[in-house]
Amino acid sequence: MSSGVGEPGGGVVLVVNAGSSSVKYELLDPVPGVSHAKGLIERIGLADGAVHHTVDGVTHDEVLDVPDHETALRLATRAFEQHGPSLDTVNLLAVGHRVVHGGADFADPTLITPEVVAAVERLVPLAPLHNPGNLAGIAATQAAFPDVPQVAVFDTAFHQGMPEAAATYAVPRSWRQEHLVRRYGFHGTSHAYVSRRAADLLGRPLEEVRSIVLHLGNGASATAVDGGRSIDTSMGMTPLEGLVMGTRPGDLDPGVAGHLARVAGLSMTDLELALSKESGLLGLTGSADFRQVMQRRAEGDEAARLAFDVVVHRLLHYVGAYAAVLGRLDALVFTAGVGENNADLRASVLDRLAGFGVRLDASANDAANGETLITTAESAVAGYVIPTAEELEIARQAAALVTRP
Ligand code: ADP
Repeated sequence: MSSGVGEPGGGVVLVVNAGSSSVKYELLDPVPGVSHAKGLIERIGLADGAVHHTVDGVTHDEVLDVPDHETALRLATRAFEQHGPSLDTVNLLAVGHRVVHGGADFADPTLITPEVVAAVERLVPLAPLHNPGNLAGIAATQAAFPDVPQVAVFDTAFHQGMPEAAATYAVPRSWRQEHLVRRYGFHGTSHAYVSRRAADLLGRPLEEVRSIVLHLGNGASATAVDGGRSIDTSMGMTPLEGLVMGTRPGDLDPGVAGHLARVAGLSMTDLELALSKESGLLGLTGSADFRQVMQRRAEGDEAARLAFDVVVHRLLHYVGAYAAVLGRLDALVFTAGVGENNADLRASVLDRLAGFGVRLDASANDAANGETLITTAESAVAGYVIPTAEELEIARQAAALVTRP
């Protein structure tokens, strides 16, 4: 077993990321930032459920029915007992839950009480695809660990201090006041962690650093961070806005919806499905997976070439906007699956910024592995690859809340 588990005075956090049909979990020691085990329980409520528990680099797989989230949590607990580390031998400080939508109510990690659960339930209309799964995960975890403090860490929290001008849509007052229509932003734990690491790598106090973080995974968002505060972010009221993603289009003229309703008879349900599951890279190329799109592009596929160009164009659009919003730019950071692994995409963005004094270090970019500076010493802006660590950030925020004197 990895060192540190159960050491006196230490403590670990179980991070739970529950979706509607899956639960991801990870047991972390937040202080050194060590992961002791992690797992995925998938296809909850569907045929052929599965448990995958990874410890010491070995994954233990089991296929079995997982009818609901309570069963999922029981199976996770059993996997810890069977494959380690046993949860009886560790000092479990807290369970940290990733909760997608905290609306305007939650700007900080929050101890989960019945009132907090009720508030997250009230926010379901803002995140109907995400908050119900998060709530099922919270209820199941409370049943599995009744004596352990449960902490909600909201994806929206980091953006709650955004200036009003960045958070406001220019729509009728009743939409804004009665229906909570405003920009909230997501991926907050990732943007918070990565922007802090960028300041560390620059060797400058967080308060002084202005950065743009490009979180590019299946979902993707850009955030302008000034002195550790999010001052603008590309996802809005929902995770549909902004960058081109695996299956979502990002920015789109809202007139498209009315047009398609009139000329193609699409219902609101049809539109929402197409915009959340059938657009983005999938809509442009037939594949939502960036690796496959890159492969096809290398083979000369025209749709893949266009998709890559659209992705880069939209990224430049946001980098330019956020450089202006920030007024000065110290660091431009790439993170998440695509950002951490795709050197071509990073080079395409940074090379196009050469006119602003950005100088790509091509060999560092091609060889990037872990935290890497990918611009030269002469570059006006430091470009970085910084792997995100959302689970660790959740563990740290949860541990800090429950151990605060
Ligand atoms: P999620 O948003 O689901 O957490 P990830 O951050 O894991 O997603 O990112 C998934 C995306 O990263 C996929 O589009 C995948 O193709 C892409 N990706 C992963 N590895 C590579 C790679 N080596 N090169 C290009 N893209 C990659």
